Amino acid sequence: MASALQTLAGSSLRSICTGLDRFASEFTPQQHSGYQARCALLYSGKDGDRVRLFRRSRLASVGRLRAVDGSGQTGDAENGMPKDLVRSLIPKASSAPKDPSAGLWVQCESCQAMLYVKILKQNKRICDQCGSHLPMSSTERIDLLIDPGTWAPLDENMMSKDTLGFVDEENYCDRLIEYQNRTGMTDAVQTGTGKLYGVPVALGVMDFQFMGGSMGSVVGEKLTRLIEHAIHLKLPLIIVCASGGARMQEGTLSLMQMAKISSALHIHQTKMGLLYIAVLTSPTTGGVTASFGMLGDLILAEPESYIAFAGKRVIEQTLNQEVPEGFQSAESLFKHGLLDMIVPRPIMKGVLGELLQLYSLAPKRRKEAAIPYPVISH
Ligand SMILES: [Zn+2]
Repeated sequence: MASALQTLAGSSLRSICTGLDRFASEFTPQQHSGYQARCALLYSGKDGDRVRLFRRSRLASVGRLRAVDGSGQTGDAENGMPKDLVRSLIPKASSAPKDPSAGLWVQCESCQAMLYVKILKQNKRICDQCGSHLPMSSTERIDLLIDPGTWAPLDENMMSKDTLGFVDEENYCDRLIEYQNRTGMTDAVQTGTGKLYGVPVALGVMDFQFMGGSMGSVVGEKLTRLIEHAIHLKLPLIIVCASGGARMQEGTLSLMQMAKISSALHIHQTKMGLLYIAVLTSPTTGGVTASFGMLGDLILAEPESYIAFAGKRVIEQTLNQEVPEGFQSAESLFKHGLLDMIVPRPIMKGVLGELLQLYSLAPKRRKEAAIPYPVISH
């Protein structure tokens, strides 16, 4: 092993990766799975940042990464790497080893009925006993909303850095990798373009399974790029929200995403006169509600969704006042004018399709103003 590492030191980044591949067979199964995830991080980087992330990883602690440190190579990791190899190293949702719906039965949280997963999936994850809408993954939502074969994802390989060196019960980097392995996603949102009943749209879908759908730098950056992409192509925008709020492991950086996304939305909606529909699912809370969740030209929600800024207990403790039951449900918010529609999941695509058709026939007053700053075009 020592000689292998010495040989690797001073080699190019690519040959280091190949070299790591060669002696990966010596790893224990746990080390091997960590190794694959970290190689994915390494290969997917377009700059030295991912390499630094790789260095801080757990592999470094078992001495595997000294070669990378010793080489001083922090250049373009993707350069010269076949794209299909890069893609094959990034775990995909469809091949995720721990699909949360992989069990045969799940229990409905509302009526406690045991539901057969196969039937539940056919029912769009709606309980056939009580009609409760169970949580849905972002991939399932994309399948639900986008016409087959038209989905084109954006920024699939973007990953967070542990800028603050945050450690709670677990190192933030390790936590990220654990969730990446568990969900097959790189962070808590999927973005891309596709067609909804033939109408081209830009779609962002948050995933609560990835660290509670928390909004860190990657979620903010991916959504901002999606909005800028929609501005560039003059596309209507739909964002499906499911989030516990800002990601505490990224501190103020995650709060900054609220302003960043809102600024991009301002250009999309006000300057360009394009349509933005927010779809709020259970739960949508914290910084997401306080920014793009509530900025939609139209705000839709699923029935009985929990939509809030601060949680019930926090409000009660802060104000020393009891919050009525159901106060933060979609129905209550609709009654008080915060939502435009409550749309059950089976007809969500149909409703969105009709709204898009309506706005394409009668668009908002479109302003052909110049975009005030250069936007990223993919
Ligand atoms: Zn039920």
